[in-house]
Amino acid sequence: MHEATVAQSLMEVILHEAQERHARPVRAKMSCGELNKINDEILSFAFEAVAKDTLCEGMTLQIEHKPLQAICKTCGNVFAVDISNTQCLGCGGGDFELLPDAPLVLDEIEFERADDGQG
Ligand SMILES: [Zn+2]
Repeated sequence: MHEATVAQSLMEVILHEAQERHARPVRAKMSCGELNKINDEILSFAFEAVAKDTLCEGMTLQIEHKPLQAICKTCGNVFAVDISNTQCLGCGGGDFELLPDAPLVLDEIEFERADDGQG
């Protein structure tokens, strides 16, 4: 389980951004690959724990899971591959090379707008 580590570093990055902008983060979008799979629930839970009593408390974490991709050696098509699909969607061939798994990335942080009138 590496969710706790991920939550900790996510929080640090978001908190840093928040302090730079003097704004409260409301939502963050991140993505991760298939091999580096993250359990959404565990991550959200871990994030909530580390975000407690910080600017990040109460914000929402959105996690996008990117499929593992492969490139077809026959036609060069790039397609999502999994256990149920090991054929190129372009030519139907089975001769392909796996592409590196999508890294764990923080894509976007959404901050509360000053004119939201919270509170
Ligand atoms: Zn192909």
